[in-house]
Amino acid sequence: MKAVRRITAKKRIALVAHDNKKADLVDWAVFNKVVLASHELIATGTTGKLLEEKLGQPVKKILSGPLGGDQQLGAMIAEGKVDVLIFFWDPMEAQPHDSDVKALLRLGVAWNILLACDRATADFILTSPLMMQDYETQLPDYSNYLNRKVTR
Ligand code: PGA
Repeated sequence: MKAVRRITAKKRIALVAHDNKKADLVDWAVFNKVVLASHELIATGTTGKLLEEKLGQPVKKILSGPLGGDQQLGAMIAEGKVDVLIFFWDPMEAQPHDSDVKALLRLGVAWNILLACDRATADFILTSPLMMQDYETQLPDYSNYLNRKVTR
C-alpha cells in the first residue's frame, strides 16, 4: 500500500524570498490576501516580518534564511509540517547560503510538497480548487533506501 500524507483544507504555507525578490513576493501575497487569510503562514525571518506588516495576518517567523531559516524549513518539510513552499529565490545573484537554498529545494522535491519558485506557478497553486479541500499526497517510497545493506 502506498503511503500518503493528509493535507487539510487549511494549508501550512511557507514563504521565502531572497532580497531582490521580496517586493515581488509581498506584492503577490497582498494580491492574494483573502485566500492566504484562510491558511497558516510560516516564513523566514525578514520575509515573515514584511508579510506580517503588509497582510495584517500572523506569520510564524523562523530564523532568517542565511542564519539557519532555510535549514529549519527543510527540517519542517521532512517532518511533514509544511504543505506548500512558495520560494522566490533569486536566479541572478549568488547567495551566501547557496548550499542551504539547494538543500531546501531538494527536500521540497524529496517529500513531494507543493513548490513554487515563481509567481506564475504560485498563482496556479493558490487558485487550484484543491487548496480549499483536504487532499492526500503520495509519499515517495524510500523503503529501498531505508533497508539498504550498509557494510559495517
Ligand atoms: P529572510 O531569508 O526572509 O530572512 O531574508 C530569506 C532567505 O534568504 O532565505
